[in-house]
Amino acid sequence: MTTAPSPTQAPSFDLLLFGGTGDLAMRKLLPALYMRHRGGDLPAHGRIVGLARETMSRGEFIDKVRASFDRFVPAAERDAKDFDAFAQRLDYLQVEANTPQHFEALAAALKDSKAAVRVFFLSTAPDFFAPICKNLAAAGLVHAQSRVVLEKPLGRDLASAQKINEDVGSVFAESQIFRIDHYLGKEPVQNLLALRFANALLEPLWNRTWVSNVQITIAEQVGVETRGAFYDRTGALRDMVQNHLLQLLCILAMEPPNSIHPDAVRDEKLKVLNALRPFTPADVETRTVRGQYRAGAIGGQRVPGYLEEPDIPAGSSTESYVAIRAELQNWRWSGVPFYLRTGKRMAERVAEIVVNFRAVPHSIFPGAGAGTPGNRLVIRLQPDEELKLFMMAKVPGDTLKLKPVELNLDFAEQFRQRPMEAYERLLMDAIRGNLTLFMRRDELDAAWRWCEPILHGWAQSDQAPKPYSAGSWGPAAASALVGRDGVVWREEA
Ligand code: NAP
Repeated sequence: MTTAPSPTQAPSFDLLLFGGTGDLAMRKLLPALYMRHRGGDLPAHGRIVGLARETMSRGEFIDKVRASFDRFVPAAERDAKDFDAFAQRLDYLQVEANTPQHFEALAAALKDSKAAVRVFFLSTAPDFFAPICKNLAAAGLVHAQSRVVLEKPLGRDLASAQKINEDVGSVFAESQIFRIDHYLGKEPVQNLLALRFANALLEPLWNRTWVSNVQITIAEQVGVETRGAFYDRTGALRDMVQNHLLQLLCILAMEPPNSIHPDAVRDEKLKVLNALRPFTPADVETRTVRGQYRAGAIGGQRVPGYLEEPDIPAGSSTESYVAIRAELQNWRWSGVPFYLRTGKRMAERVAEIVVNFRAVPHSIFPGAGAGTPGNRLVIRLQPDEELKLFMMAKVPGDTLKLKPVELNLDFAEQFRQRPMEAYERLLMDAIRGNLTLFMRRDELDAAWRWCEPILHGWAQSDQAPKPYSAGSWGPAAASALVGRDGVVWREEA
């Protein structure tokens, strides 16, 4: 049984943060918990224990967190009094994933806790998920009100994802497993749900009759940075498409669930994944483009090509860019292309979903003619969070000149509130036990099942990834991919 979503006060909790000294913990997780503490959402008993191999006192851990907040908490949100109160919640314990005695020490530290809920957040490499879960169980640390939160990457193919799920599933029930995809925690994605399912206006248009195509882009300006060895084993398809892009596609394309209950939503998302048209080897050639960046310029700075980056093996054919023409085999979306693309070292840092509606069937405006574009809904997730609907309007003046104008659906002006960071929402959901925004095991399997033939096709191909210059929008072949349908990518800052 999954727990129904509850907007109520969070229960008392112990949050055991494996990888508590790592980059993700310092940059995202602990700042997010601090923000919810500052917002008054954490209960009086809400203890956060950092766990890692390093020997460190509680005071040293707090100092490390304080120093990292100077970098990762916005200046306007830093407050010494609030930090001191937040630090009261913090503790640190040395726990090595494969050392059972360390888990016994953890059990001793939690023995007298009155917390209602225990959340194990595994912010470590996935190789440690199995030993951590096994050692938690052996130390008697897992009870009915325990939850485990898993960070990506969840496998590198279907078999390895299934192995992780079996290892974790041998200790935790599916209703206790929270698989994070932080894109689902972003405010505009929540707003897309509200827009689609709290308004009747768009639903009649949300189908093959009125939508001509959908584009989902996650473009990064950064290269592989210090993670060359990891990235070269992973590539853009595994790193971004299998999880983030497909999850966004699900939210956009799913049927209205009959409630916001986790399984109602996840059942509908699963149907979308199962409706994705599978790839044949021939499709991999014609409906996907993989690319790899060459040296170029970003923001006026020269940057090296992928093959010149540290820890990248000579002649690597790992893709730093992918574009895919996906299709859904169902009544609502049959024939509507869903273009997915992601890449590193691209012209802009942008993540957005674009829904392009069909143009008017006949234009009565002389001069506008075939040039009257269809309406367009843009849901931007980064760098800014925005929701805009582009409509045609008349330019003021004595001639009937038309121009697309933006209706801002972001409501920042209306609500005048800081948009919540994805991890703030997702951590609170994990503490409250609301699984709606987390991936279920069958979703993960279905996503891998769809991606695997693409990986196989590329592995068997004698074609190298298409080169593109750092600072561009990707290989020319990706423009040709959409161009065959008479479409161009939206590429506006
Ligand atoms: P990281 O900076 O390398 O941190 C790894 C953490 O795990 C450290 O606290 C490390 O501390 C601990 N650790 C390493 N070996 C351990 C062991 N044998 N037993 C117990 N703890 C151990 O990595 P990260 O960037 O925080 O990423 C953590 C996970 O999240 C990775 O799987 C990553 O792919 C994923 N992720 C990261 C990001 C991000 O933005 N950073 C985003 C999405 C997903 P000690 O060395 O002291 O043990």
